[in-house]
Amino acid sequence: MGFMVSGRCSCGYAAKGLMVGVGMRDPRGTWLAPCICRKCHQAVSANVQAKTLKCPKCKAKGVEPYVDPDAGKEEGEEYPSCAASEPLFDSGFECPACAKKSLKFEFAGMWD
Ligand SMILES: [Zn+2]
Ligand SMILES: [Zn+2]
Repeated sequence: MGFMVSGRCSCGYAAKGLMVGVGMRDPRGTWLAPCICRKCHQAVSANVQAKTLKCPKCKAKGVEPYVDPDAGKEEGEEYPSCAASEPLFDSGFECPACAKKSLKFEFAGMWD
């Protein structure tokens, strides 16, 4: 189960429908989290369990997750838990458009 977040920055940048977590229909080994791509200046949802993290939009490598997928992971657990995504709602993050730490995420619905 996962959910979606929207990101918004005071500069006017907005990212909608970024998926977080794992979907029921997804193959194992996928855990999506919002990431920043500094190549195409977008916040994107990428599979942070992949060996090489790539931007789904411009295919650039070196995309950085906004949250640590290993945070809150219980010992022996293969998947990041929901706890890993909680810091998303706590503070401002680097905006891919203006590079200020003023990107805020908000809950935008569930998906499965
Ligand atoms: Zn990109
Ligand atoms: Zn901004």
